Amino acid sequence: MAQIIIKNVRKEFGDFTAVKESSFTIEDGEFFMLLGPSGCGKTTTLRMIAGLELPTSGEIYLDGEEISQKPPSQRDIAFVFQMFALYPHMNVRKNLSYPLVSQGMDRAAVKAKVAEVAQILGIEDILNKPVGGLSGGDRQRVALGRAIVRDPKAFMMDEPLGALDAEFRERMAEELRALHDRMNATTVYVTHDQLEAMQMGDKIVVMNNAVVEQFGTPQEVYDKPATLFVADFIGSPSMNFLRFDGVVEEGATDIKMGEQVVGMPRQMEGARGSLVYGIRPEHIKLTDTGAYRGSVLATEYLGTTQIVTLDTANGEVKARIDSAQPAKVGEAVGLSFDAATVTMFDETTGQALK
Ligand code: ATP
Repeated sequence: MAQIIIKNVRKEFGDFTAVKESSFTIEDGEFFMLLGPSGCGKTTTLRMIAGLELPTSGEIYLDGEEISQKPPSQRDIAFVFQMFALYPHMNVRKNLSYPLVSQGMDRAAVKAKVAEVAQILGIEDILNKPVGGLSGGDRQRVALGRAIVRDPKAFMMDEPLGALDAEFRERMAEELRALHDRMNATTVYVTHDQLEAMQMGDKIVVMNNAVVEQFGTPQEVYDKPATLFVADFIGSPSMNFLRFDGVVEEGATDIKMGEQVVGMPRQMEGARGSLVYGIRPEHIKLTDTGAYRGSVLATEYLGTTQIVTLDTANGEVKARIDSAQPAKVGEAVGLSFDAATVTMFDETTGQALK
């Protein structure tokens, strides 16, 4: 059982700041994702929770106790480095027993614990096999088992599925999530893959340039992105951004977007300056009529839906529509969207308008 609180944590390496003042809470039993592009500071954050790096300032609490400056051995947190890091010359049972034997646990207790973990992971039938000859999936299960046997308070995983091909990766992701749901152990998981974070996470922290951009459920970061960065990073194809420069009249209901008049979201009233009008592809409908017009540049068939790329007065816009609806390259169409589905951003600060 473990709740982890990160409070104003900062990490400097010499002159370089890898993580700027970050705060968020990981609740007991959550599958928690640290998401962001390469170099944004997610691994450093994970390593600080595990004690492999110490914060320059700020505090980390594990179940109410401050652990910020404690060594890893005093934190009771398991770091699953890489799922393939096993002892190749030992069989599965020895690989699983080793962490317990080295802790001084007696033989009967080790045997019982290994049996319990093997059952959780469904690997009882391969306990006596050497790990060298195992399939990739079984090696991953054994590597996880090595972390689980110690009954840690929480698991830290750094891109554990990163090296796998797409199909296998998806299967292991499902298995990992199912395992988590059975064990309910707090898990912090680093990934740069937004889809993986959305599919697996209870909560997501989105980081960019050493800063926490947003912290929330997958639905919150998707539907209510706090910043332009989050809006762009989450979702595929990503949100459409239409630029607007000018002053919005008080009480206006429509605005002129380039040549076109479009509905105005509530947050824009009275706004001035450089604004960005953000709209997800699935919120755009294509119609025969409609004041806002574009021409079809390309279509991409995705089964039940298709992505239609349109050339508009505001540049390229992507719409996700039903595959059954005809859309021909070169055709002129109307675009319609409900102003309530639009998120507005201040282009200067990158923040969403509330
Ligand atoms: P990636 O997915 O590429 O690992 P990340 O988001 O996990 O990215 P970090 O590994 O946390 O990023 O690194 C953040 C920044 O801190 C990077 O620019 C990295 O070069 C730098 N950094 C990390 N560890 C050290 C270190 N020990 N000394 C100096 N700089 C470091």
